[in-house]
Amino acid sequence: MPQHHPRDLAEGDPFGPDTLPYGVFTTPDAPARPRVGVRYGAHVLDAAAAAAAHGSAYADLLAAPTLNPLMAAGRPVWEAVRAEVRGWLDEPYFHPLEEVTLHLPFEVADYVDFYASEHHAANVGRIFRPGGEALTPNWKHLPIGYHGRAGTVVVTGTDVVRPQGQRKAPGDELPTFGPSLRLDIEAEVGFVVGTPAPASTPVPLSDFREHVFGVCLVNDWSSRDLQAWEYVPLGPFLGKSFATSVSAWITPLDAFDAARTAPPARTYPLLPYLDDSAGEPGGIDLRIEVRINGEVVSRPPFSAMYWTAAQQLAHMTVNGASLRTGDFYASGTVSGPEPDQLGCLLELTGGKGPFLADGDEVTLTAWAPGANGARIGLGEVTGRIVPARTAPPGS
Ligand code: CA
Repeated sequence: MPQHHPRDLAEGDPFGPDTLPYGVFTTPDAPARPRVGVRYGAHVLDAAAAAAAHGSAYADLLAAPTLNPLMAAGRPVWEAVRAEVRGWLDEPYFHPLEEVTLHLPFEVADYVDFYASEHHAANVGRIFRPGGEALTPNWKHLPIGYHGRAGTVVVTGTDVVRPQGQRKAPGDELPTFGPSLRLDIEAEVGFVVGTPAPASTPVPLSDFREHVFGVCLVNDWSSRDLQAWEYVPLGPFLGKSFATSVSAWITPLDAFDAARTAPPARTYPLLPYLDDSAGEPGGIDLRIEVRINGEVVSRPPFSAMYWTAAQQLAHMTVNGASLRTGDFYASGTVSGPEPDQLGCLLELTGGKGPFLADGDEVTLTAWAPGANGARIGLGEVTGRIVPARTAPPGS
């Protein structure tokens, strides 16, 4: 194992001592023993080994094969573990990133996807409903979302098989079946729930930090042709549920304290459970970069989102729905006001394409400003499109 020390950090490395995201990894010598690691620069701290060596009270949480036990332990434990990890950074429990295998870091309970960028919602509205109002009448009064498919959330690096299904172009008389012809990305930010909440106890805006463990990047792969044909009247379904990629690292919410920012001014007064005009700013100044086959195609600004993650959590629970450890929700496509700030190909190409080809590789990265000029990184999320695998039924 190479010697590692904080001085080994590259200048401006967004995975320094103020970031310390959690993941789950295995090493070639123990492929059946996934455990909790912490990314530091280009290395992974074996938090399970360090905790055991120090007789940490949290050793069992860090030896677990997912982050869920740590996530369920609640905010006081999150703070205590983060403080202990900081004390292990100049010790010999590191592996080079390229020598470990990273796994889906948490067991996903329920998955919700929101639609929180006004720029994205208006652009998509104009493309999908030409001639109609760009935003639906409810859009500025509640954070719109839908329940996605938790079982198809996959970790970065997982190939994405081109989905198949029904699609019907406007000029076609009848739908046809086949591989999606308009396969797209959606650059999003995800929030992972740690502390559960019982039924009939809505989570107020002020309790956001008690429940949300951390933040990750999300690529909500989207088949525009399947989506356009199926989405009325119940919303996204098979055009979304084939795969959702997440980063291997969950960055604690506390890492973004210096990046909190006020969301855009609201057009209408909000109902009290969503009104965040008092209290701490709910936005996060995260700068995302989207690359396709290595080329930067967009830089969406998360600070431009109309709805915040705290409002989304409050809305998700206001009807009395409970929260479970591992519940996961994504922001919706992050698009800013400028043409080079759009978070999907549908918008970047004005609905015309080209969309993703087999073999294309998409990578999302992001960072936020930290204290004293530091950068706080989110783990990257990468996926490559591979051809549809099965012949259409009946062919
Ligand atoms: Ca989405």
